[in-house]
Amino acid sequence: MRARTDLACWQGSQGRREEFAVRVVLLGAPGCGKGTHSEWMKEDLGVPQISTGDILRDAVKAGTELGKRAKAYMNNGELVPDEVILGMMRERLAQPDAAAGFILDGFPRTIPQAEGLDGILGEQAVQLDRVIKIDVASDELVRRLTSRRVCPNCKAVYNIGFRPPKKEGICDHCGEPIIQRDDDTEETARSRLTVYESQTAPLIDYYKANGLLAVINGNRGFAGAQAETREILDL
Ligand code: AMP
Repeated sequence: MRARTDLACWQGSQGRREEFAVRVVLLGAPGCGKGTHSEWMKEDLGVPQISTGDILRDAVKAGTELGKRAKAYMNNGELVPDEVILGMMRERLAQPDAAAGFILDGFPRTIPQAEGLDGILGEQAVQLDRVIKIDVASDELVRRLTSRRVCPNCKAVYNIGFRPPKKEGICDHCGEPIIQRDDDTEETARSRLTVYESQTAPLIDYYKANGLLAVINGNRGFAGAQAETREILDL
């Protein structure tokens, strides 16, 4: 992996930018900390965080066609169909900011999505640099999901147990009231974890086979996971 010091070099021409782009996938069960770690990684790497969950929630809120198609799946804790997600991501990855690299949070989530991503990147003549899987014990995941709160405006992630905002109920970054996601109830959280095991966990072997996978321990709290990630990315 290229270090942040190298990234400073690419701010000049578009060609250099492309040369030093960093493309990372964050993998792991719902509640493992993908969103939380994306927050500092996007700053350090200078690349956008692309969260399919955030894009879909915004679409549901705006009442777009995509949102209407996705809503029932999301409320039931099921996956939105692969062709919908791949169409959405093909568009998102073609945006100019993604040429500088990206952190993918919550995508891919199935083998067909991973194959689709390989195809999209292949068309752009680029490839992934790293897939970082965050390991967290399953009983801890339910606890984290049900006590999670998010900012609907800037998407910052909090936890009322161990990562609360400075002022109760208010986002530290933008001052909006934070909320509990509709799908962070215990029942839906448990369904999402079952869906993860059956449909997303096979990606671990997929990315192990092509040598991209690195696994970090997310059970030891934020700082431990951050330090391991920094080491993997040479940050
Ligand atoms: P997340 O914010 O990543 O936990 O995603 C919330 C919900 O959005 C999931 O439970 C799915 O219903 C849907 N979703 C997000 N990303 C994907 C994806 N890559 N494939 C299918 N469904 C997704």
